[in-house]
Amino acid sequence: MPLSSRRRGRGAARRRRGLQLSIAPLALACLLLAGGPLLASVASPDGAGPAARAMGPLPACRYDDILTSPRAYRQWDHTLVDTILMVPRTYVPPDLVPVSEAGIEGSGKIRLVMIDDLKAMADAARQAGAGIGVQSAYRSYEQQVKTFQGYVARDGRAEALKFSARPGHSEHQLGVAIDFRSESGGSPFEGDWGETKAGQWMAANAWKYGFVMSYPKGKRSVTCYVYESWHFRYLGRDLAKAVHDSGLTVREYLWANYTTAIVPPPSGEPLPTYAPTEQPSPSPGPSESPAASPGPSPTTAHSPAPSPSAAPSPPLEPSAEPSPSAPPPPGGGLVGGVAPGVAAATIAGLATLAAAVLLLLLRRGRFGAVL
Ligand SMILES: [Zn+2]
Repeated sequence: MPLSSRRRGRGAARRRRGLQLSIAPLALACLLLAGGPLLASVASPDGAGPAARAMGPLPACRYDDILTSPRAYRQWDHTLVDTILMVPRTYVPPDLVPVSEAGIEGSGKIRLVMIDDLKAMADAARQAGAGIGVQSAYRSYEQQVKTFQGYVARDGRAEALKFSARPGHSEHQLGVAIDFRSESGGSPFEGDWGETKAGQWMAANAWKYGFVMSYPKGKRSVTCYVYESWHFRYLGRDLAKAVHDSGLTVREYLWANYTTAIVPPPSGEPLPTYAPTEQPSPSPGPSESPAASPGPSPTTAHSPAPSPSAAPSPPLEPSAEPSPSAPPPPGGGLVGGVAPGVAAATIAGLATLAAAVLLLLLRRGRFGAVL
């Protein structure tokens, strides 16, 4: 072979190599770009870690009946219930066990997952001379109907709403909330339990064992409930530490990091059974006298009643949020969650195909030169 043609051959090979080198990363970049979102959406749904993907600003306190998500039983730690978000009547944790299994006084049931930490906490409290007992633990939807109605009968609805959750909206139904009292002590609801030795110990130490006070003092504007020194929600040690360190309340933290339910703004007209602003601002606002309450007419103030008490089918009603709540897997969350997923998959597929074709062409080119 003449020298010139060999040189030409080498030059062509070099050019091809150059082309190959520059195209490979390009194809790789294509794949990463297309696959990235796909991978991300696969990695986040179960809340592997705080994804900081709030569905918007924390909704102002009001009363509504929107199914929360996530709400699978295994996602107990990421499930948010508040005055707006709820679990259905049928939500009954599958692994409830007596609190006595944790060697603590009191009756009631809690989810198995918290037994070890509850035992460790009860032991530590006892050793600190601040023994604790259980006043109230898991409550079914039906029990919460009675509990709430009892308070309404005693104090009036407006007052009851300040400290008692409507059925479906109680952390007690999740099986991971406990109202504590002092060991061999009386009801924590009388006097300021937060000032007792047990109450103080719990406020300072419970988070180390995975328990966080859901409704701390001075946080009513974001928790939507008055201060409850005795009510703690179990989150597991890691999440409880994260919440504690963040300085946020449970509601704020879960909303900001895990909740995927869509809460429509209160101004809208979407819901027929919608109670616009029964208790518009959480603050001192809606005083005792229900009729005297400022905002919406008394009729509106009573309209939410059908949901918790009378109507037997409130959990099915929340048509407010059909799509995000219907499929249990909270997934990417957004309404368009499916569409972006499909789009990403399609793009990834196309990019892979394009990369394969490119590489094939290059290979064919090289072999062609050899032959
Ligand atoms: Zn409670």
